[in-house]
Amino acid sequence: LSFEDFKLNKQLLTAVAEAGFERPTPVQQQAIPLLLAGHDLLGVAQTGTGKTAAFGLPLLMKVKYAQGTHPRALVLAPTRELILQLETHLRKLAAYTDLRIVAVYGGVGVKTHSEAVRNGVDILLATPGRLMELYSKGDLVLKELKTLVLDEADKMMDMGFMPQIRRLLEIIPRKRQNMLFSATMPPKVEELSAEFLEFPVKIEV
Ligand code: AMP
Repeated sequence: LSFEDFKLNKQLLTAVAEAGFERPTPVQQQAIPLLLAGHDLLGVAQTGTGKTAAFGLPLLMKVKYAQGTHPRALVLAPTRELILQLETHLRKLAAYTDLRIVAVYGGVGVKTHSEAVRNGVDILLATPGRLMELYSKGDLVLKELKTLVLDEADKMMDMGFMPQIRRLLEIIPRKRQNMLFSATMPPKVEELSAEFLEFPVKIEV
């Protein structure tokens, strides 16, 4: 199996080749076709398995072909460090598209992030606290969201982000595609996935 076997466009395949990815990893082989077909996904996968491109490539495809002025995809992760890693990785994969990827996280002044999101976003990467802060200030319109990714869900539960995630789920459109990735599946993550995923396909690597 090669990346050309997936229904990805030329811009993404060029970026994949440039990244030096020769063959899809197991999580990519399983997740990419399911996500392109629109399924919700529960991925039990550690960092280092290629999970970012596994959800990132289908997400970029979807956002590319869904017009809008506000963010159409939101990726949540627990820490600034993880958000910055996601930003680097997804920007590389999006290098030949015109998609605008913006990263926001706590621990730095909110002003720069306010300006960044007001300038226009297609794909927003955020820690839960900063996301809700920007939303409360009125800087963010979330009604065009069609894809939601929770990355490192076990760490998000450990860090106490469940209330922010619950609030978010009340705000955003109900009809959307959801993906949840977690290295482990403790009861709190089971509970979260039951609340938030619809008929998910589960993959474990
Ligand atoms: P991740 O699990 O998403 O954090 O990715 C771990 C590392 O694997 C990253 O440095 C990626 O650039 C790399 N990677 C992802 N997919 C592939 C692939 N298909 N072939 C080779 N390297 C990859």
